[in-house]
Amino acid sequence: MPIVKNFFIGLSNNPFLNKTAKEIGPMLGANKVVAGNTIEALLNTIERLNSKGITVTVDCLGEFVVTEGEAIQSKDQILEVMYAIYNNSLDGHMSIKLSQLGSEFDLDLAYRNLREILLKANEFNNMHINIDTEKYDSLFDITQVLDRLKGEFKNVGTVIQGYLYEADTLVEKYPELRLRMVKGAYKESDTIAYQTKEDIDENYIRLIEKRLLNAKNVTSIATHDDKVITHIKQFIKDNNIEKNQYEFQMLYGFRTDLAEKIAGEGNNFCIYVPYGDDWFSYFMRRLAERPQNLNLMFKELMKPEVMKKAGVVTGIVAAFGAASALVYRLFKK
Ligand SMILES: Cc1cc2nc3c(=O)[nH]c(=O)nc-3n(C[C@H](O)[C@H](O)[C@H](O)COP(=O)(O)OP(=O)(O)OC[C@H]3O[C@@H](n4cnc5c(N)ncnc54)[C@H](O)[C@@H]3O)c2cc1C
Repeated sequence: MPIVKNFFIGLSNNPFLNKTAKEIGPMLGANKVVAGNTIEALLNTIERLNSKGITVTVDCLGEFVVTEGEAIQSKDQILEVMYAIYNNSLDGHMSIKLSQLGSEFDLDLAYRNLREILLKANEFNNMHINIDTEKYDSLFDITQVLDRLKGEFKNVGTVIQGYLYEADTLVEKYPELRLRMVKGAYKESDTIAYQTKEDIDENYIRLIEKRLLNAKNVTSIATHDDKVITHIKQFIKDNNIEKNQYEFQMLYGFRTDLAEKIAGEGNNFCIYVPYGDDWFSYFMRRLAERPQNLNLMFKELMKPEVMKKAGVVTGIVAAFGAASALVYRLFKK
């Protein structure tokens, strides 16, 4: 449903709403999919998941980083979380957006920040550092930074967005890196990306198969799509792909039962855990992917304390909720 997707992607890109939401803290249901905004809350979540045999990758949420000071603050927050994971002997690694390290205004600053993170990661049991992929505009920057770092560090990897025509070339380019395979979360034009669910799913499955057959490092299959998961599990079995060559990944708060079932079957499983105040863009992208996720928000909006907490922004929140509801109801199948 492109109109619903565009609506939420539009909200995710709105700096005013992001800033306001950051001030009031995770709400509207986002608190079900973000692991809090204190280190203690984050560590509790990781401990709980680790006790079920599930590892984590932590995303220190950070959007609209536009000054060197903000980029350094993001880097410092990431280092703090890495230290906490290591110091508490937890099983986890980091997922980082280059834009939160300053790439949108100074690519070399982002490179230096990331290199500092990787040097520390080497001290912390060679913790893996994943560079998340963002809008297509930033893909060239990511590959440039990755190409500068991959000779020096073995613990860096990135994400392949299956909707991109270019994804094939990237899978071929990086067999030695740990790669996460996703369908892709942003709105891209038909000159660079597949548009229909059928085309995206077909390309996504084809790319995962190609990667599993040729990879020299772990492949993370990151999807909530049970049809894709069932297909890939069979492919893995048919091709005798070893357990240490792949893992499944899902986002925190989504399809928890399925995640635990897959982990319980003896598969390596990793949950992507967002952490921090900057929850709005992340949550809007989740609504863009699957408007049914609005259920999380409706339940929360019914609580009086939520409206009270919103204070002066109640109007904005209510208008936003009502508009979302309207769009969803008008266009749901
Ligand atoms: C761990 C992880 C990391 C990611 N990192 C990135 C990144 O760096 N860059 C990027 O662009 N994107 C990233 N994404 C997002 C990704 O690109 C997709 O936008 C997102 O995962 C939605 O696609 P999907 O594969 O889950 O399936 P969809 O196509 O959204 O859903 C397919 C089917 O799965 C089922 N389903 C999905 N969600 C649910 C649910 N909550 N409850 C019940 N059934 C459900 C439904 O049957 C649905 O029809 C990441 C995703 C994950 C899981």
